[in-house]
Amino acid sequence: MTQLTDKRRVESFVKPFRVTDGRKFKLKHVDPDFTAGLKSKQAAGDMLEAGVRRLAELQDRLYAQDKWSLLVIFQAMDAAGKDGTIKHVMSGVNPVGCQVFSFKAPSAEELDHDFMWRALRCLPERGRIGIFNRSYYEEMLVVRVHPELLQAQKLPPALVTEDIWRERFDDVRNIERYLARNGVIILKFFLHVSRREQRTRFLDRLKQPEKNWKFSMADAKERNFWDDYQKAYEDVIQHTASAHAPWYVVPADRKWFTRLVVAGAIIDALEDLDLEYPVVDARRREELRLVQGELERSGDEPAGRGKKPKKGKAKKAKKGKAKQGTAGKAGPARRRPARPSSTRTRPAGAPPPAAPDTGGQGGPAA
Ligand code: ATP
Ligand code: MG
Repeated sequence: MTQLTDKRRVESFVKPFRVTDGRKFKLKHVDPDFTAGLKSKQAAGDMLEAGVRRLAELQDRLYAQDKWSLLVIFQAMDAAGKDGTIKHVMSGVNPVGCQVFSFKAPSAEELDHDFMWRALRCLPERGRIGIFNRSYYEEMLVVRVHPELLQAQKLPPALVTEDIWRERFDDVRNIERYLARNGVIILKFFLHVSRREQRTRFLDRLKQPEKNWKFSMADAKERNFWDDYQKAYEDVIQHTASAHAPWYVVPADRKWFTRLVVAGAIIDALEDLDLEYPVVDARRREELRLVQGELERSGDEPAGRGKKPKKGKAKKAKKGKAKQGTAGKAGPARRRPARPSSTRTRPAGAPPPAAPDTGGQGGPAA
């Protein structure tokens, strides 16, 4: 059994799904129903559980180290399982170090900017995992499949030529290389579901009342453009896969297998970073030892109940404390600064504080 907790085994488990050079990539070579010989959903569940725990450990170090960030992009046809994958794979991570953004049809404000604008302001900070549920790749997918969306983008007409997709691929490649050079680890997942399985899942959503909310009329409409989307996905992967921003083309007809591959790929990427907890230097250790001693001597009496110090001594003690506090802050290994409140975890689709509207109407033609 493949163990997501073993560095070498996880590496060989996820490698077949990774595309780092797209020139020869063909979507038809990936079977959406592939399960790498794994048969039991139960065994996969146990594997995932262990993987989720490993991911939590790695995330803790990522956050403590505060140097790298991880950007995880999900793209897929409707009902391929993006939401469920995010929910299960990330179920063990500390929400404080994780952000999720869902990108829908752009708002009027977003259309007043270049196409990367809304994505760039949602990038994960150092130490964090940022998840894009759809992304700037929609600009080369839905917008390519529906040319009227490009018309609505208010670009100067002289710039809308037949080269526009090649130009967008170029721009995205450049931006991803820039991000990689700045410490952003980029993983891109295409959850590859079959047309037949999508039909089954849509029917489930229609038949089961508790799943009705998941179905949108736009989903059924987009299904009619299946082949155009497959072609657009293949082209995107061929042109934007790279060693520093690989695509993972993940079989998505079995949800349990999809989740294993995604968890494995994230674990694999984090294992490669050799994440370590920050080491405290000698000076800081000495400071900590002093504080520890003070705490131990103070006992656990409630505030104000302790023995009153004599008048003269009280003043001296106060002065000493103030000095020590300043020295602590100015020292070389000072405490990591508090993160601004605007960086707390936001639920999928919630706008960032500076972007009051990351979502639009939902549905490409909206
Ligand atoms: P589900 O899989 O549950 O249906 P979803 O990601 O499809 O989730 P929806 O609210 O159904 O979420 O749809 C979002 C829609 O927004 C998608 O159809 C997507 O193609 C569209 N969208 C995203 N980015 C853009 C863009 N830049 N331009 C136009 N449409 C976009
Ligand atoms: Mg949808």
